[in-house]
Amino acid sequence: MFTSINPFTQETIAVYTAHTQAEIENKLALGHQAYRELLQVPLEQRRQWMMEVAASLKNDVDMHAALITQEMGKTLKEARAEVLKCATTAEYYAENIAGMLAPRPIHSDAYKSYVSYEPKGIVLAIMPWNFPYWQVFRFAIPNILAGNTGLLKHASNVSGCALAIEKLFTTSNFPQGTFQSLLVASKDLEPIIADPRVQGVTLTGSTPAGKSVAALAGKYIKKTVLELGGSDPFIVLKDADLEAAAKTAVQGRMQNAGQSCIAAKRWIVEEEIVPTFTAEVKRILQDLHQGDPTLDTTQMGPMARPDLAEELNKQLQESIRQGAQLELGGTHEGCNFAPTLLTGVTNNMTVFKEETFGPVAVIIPAANEAEAITLANETDFGLGAALWTSDLDKAAHLANQIESGNVFINAMVRSDARLPFGGVKQSGYGRELSLEGTHEFLNVKTVYIQ
Ligand code: NDP
Repeated sequence: MFTSINPFTQETIAVYTAHTQAEIENKLALGHQAYRELLQVPLEQRRQWMMEVAASLKNDVDMHAALITQEMGKTLKEARAEVLKCATTAEYYAENIAGMLAPRPIHSDAYKSYVSYEPKGIVLAIMPWNFPYWQVFRFAIPNILAGNTGLLKHASNVSGCALAIEKLFTTSNFPQGTFQSLLVASKDLEPIIADPRVQGVTLTGSTPAGKSVAALAGKYIKKTVLELGGSDPFIVLKDADLEAAAKTAVQGRMQNAGQSCIAAKRWIVEEEIVPTFTAEVKRILQDLHQGDPTLDTTQMGPMARPDLAEELNKQLQESIRQGAQLELGGTHEGCNFAPTLLTGVTNNMTVFKEETFGPVAVIIPAANEAEAITLANETDFGLGAALWTSDLDKAAHLANQIESGNVFINAMVRSDARLPFGGVKQSGYGRELSLEGTHEFLNVKTVYIQ
């Protein structure tokens, strides 16, 4: 059984029954058959069908957004933006996929040699609840356009979203089985990963989940892409535009109630400007209204589950005991966690060392830019990083020293349909989106003609 509970009201929305073994086998068979059918379908046709999926998302944006808000608590405004981002990404890939799949000629001793990019079959996607549509579409759009099919094991608290996404594809012109959702517990995934029709596994979620799935996939020689947690630094140097940096820091930390892998989790600020920066972010945070996610006036909804709020509170209290100063917030009731600010944070504190998945902002003073970079890299994670300075040459030089999959200068780290996305270190490996992401689950086939 999978139960969806509204995080704001704590009411049960729906209870879903897990799929039986026979249903799972049926889905695997259908997914494989759809892959075979897609092999016969010209790219132009797949592009048109993807445009139809995009149109359907746009037509029903309110319904999808309401479902997201009900199941995981983000504001309706954020949920609408997420659904629309999926639609525009589907359009972008429908328009640009041909170039990404074009064979690449390579000069060799052959009369002709080239690389062709070919689909392999079913890709199993294990996805989280924090962006329950975007995380799924980010993998599904390029893969399906390239001819793979998708089998989704969504997080247990967003089964309604999983089924609504499946319906978008079953009611489209894509062959039945092109995209399906499995209602299955994590512990029951091994036979699915082992199944020869499943050709790869992509997981977005926590590092422990990634380790467990990668070990299983390794056992059965299945390629994996892992997009795991992050503890992204947000570095503010003393020559930065402080007003813009403060506004973006708050947005980068607090959007989605802080539950984003690329949230600005560690604000590393040059000592000289700490007082001004603190005053500015405090002013913005004080005006941030946390509450009912369905209201237009609400800027931040509840966290997705009470256990996540409890875990965040534990990290917060531990850090206060370790010497951090609580400047703002620090209270929670159920899933409703007040926007919180800690100052005087150092590298031995829990909020520095662990990923904090909720609305807790922390200021870590750095003596100079060299120390800022050292602190930025002093983490097991390496997903994104933001760097704020008015000296763009210096920025490019420092960007090379940051150990992460993405560095954004004078901007918020975000996942953009056109740019590759992924991490290094414990944040995972492989990429999503762009050319690199599109090729992850394809057969990169060398053809040599003498
Ligand atoms: P999990 O990593 O546990 O869940 C993410 C997905 O992985 C879900 O579909 C989950 O399924 C599945 N999963 C979990 N464990 C396994 C496993 N052993 N084998 C196969 N699949 C598995 O995240 P939580 O929801 O528990 O959140 C905990 C923490 O994870 C957060 O506080 C945050 O730090 C991190 N996280 C990071 C995300 C990111 O975007 N990188 C997204 C979400 C969480 P099920 O729900 O059925 O357990």
